[in-house]
Amino acid sequence: MKYVSTRLRVPPVPLSDAILEGLAADGGLYVPERLPRANPADFEGCEGLAGVAARLLAPFAGSDRLVGELPRIAAEAFTFEAPLRPLRAGGASVLELFHGPTAAFKDFGARFLAACFRRLAPPARRVTVLVATSGDTGSAVGAAFHGLPGVRVVILYPDGRVSPRQAHLLGCFGDNVRSFAVRGSFDDCQRLAKGAFADAELRAREPLTSANSISLGRLLPQMTYYASAALAHWRARREPLRFVVPTGNLGNAFACLLARATGLPIGEVLLATNANRVIPDFLASGTYTPRPSLGTLANAMDVGDPSNLERLRWLHGAPGEAGVSAEWVDDATIRARIAAGEASYGAIWCPHTACAVEALERRRRAGDDGHWCLVATAHPAKFDTVVEPLVGHPVAPPPALAAALARPSRAEELAADPAALRARLLEP
Ligand SMILES: *Cc1c(COP(=O)(O)O)cnc(C)c1O
Repeated sequence: MKYVSTRLRVPPVPLSDAILEGLAADGGLYVPERLPRANPADFEGCEGLAGVAARLLAPFAGSDRLVGELPRIAAEAFTFEAPLRPLRAGGASVLELFHGPTAAFKDFGARFLAACFRRLAPPARRVTVLVATSGDTGSAVGAAFHGLPGVRVVILYPDGRVSPRQAHLLGCFGDNVRSFAVRGSFDDCQRLAKGAFADAELRAREPLTSANSISLGRLLPQMTYYASAALAHWRARREPLRFVVPTGNLGNAFACLLARATGLPIGEVLLATNANRVIPDFLASGTYTPRPSLGTLANAMDVGDPSNLERLRWLHGAPGEAGVSAEWVDDATIRARIAAGEASYGAIWCPHTACAVEALERRRRAGDDGHWCLVATAHPAKFDTVVEPLVGHPVAPPPALAAALARPSRAEELAADPAALRARLLEP
């Protein structure tokens, strides 16, 4: 199996090269040159998420040098499960993706990527993983790469625009993980990172790599929890499972669509965005119009130009006929869904998951009473300052998050200025 660019202007490369490169040299995104086929019987006897991952991803690795290591990589990455729980309101279940060290789904992909890096990074020279984050990616990458020899992580986040607990997590790892509170917006952080990646002289002195949501090392393993949930549903009911997925950069949802395209029993996929409505507008009109991002309560989905959209177009061509639909949700409705969560579903939602709940409820109002699985992308306790006033009581953090919150946290300030970042990156 080789990987080709969505823009088709570079030669195919093996999986390891695609993981190390991140973005293809023609500016496109790497996609598999053909889709492996999977069916439910292939997964008989697979133990836990790690077992499903090793089986599911082997054909995606093909003859790559990582293939023999896949079971060990999967065992290192999938150290916590993704429970599929029935909800009190009938006909719906929830896939909880927040049991990792930073209480959001990004832990799965970041840990898998780190396990790949441990085997791929040239040992001779330090590599810096540079991440711009609107909140959740930075801490997942920091947690996953913390203590990895030969790797330094530099996180850029917008000062004052992440939740207090997100800020704490970003600064609590220390050692080889440096966290910078940038005086500017998330778009400023991204601009700084892009500028550093484009600076050939800097990169010659200090090798840089990225860990953003276009990385195949994050994207591919995310198929695992969709496969595992869909297989459990299939065994119980012999019907495909339909998912509602909170969406920003389309990394998590694309993994669901990719798992479906290999033949796993996944039905319609309903994407839920916040007021950054470019994906619903694209699916409705067929025209893609990126916009500057808007700040919302669901900050990890504040994306105006989703980086994986190019992969969606590669997989599905024309929108509309592909079993994919989308809804966008404003902040007032996010608040209402969180406030009503315990009474309606017996659950407390994070602001991102609340968008998915609203998308599902619109389907219900339109007469759809079939089974849907809500994808819970973060634990509500990570967004306590939004959630607690709405539910009217404290929300206890899960054990992994509580442990991270108990560590001291420290961030350095950084001006939104390329020269300032350059100077920091060149420090020993
Ligand atoms: C990152 C994130 C999302 C959006 O995921 P994408 O892969 O960017 O679509 C949704 N919810 C939470 C909690 C996140 O951290």
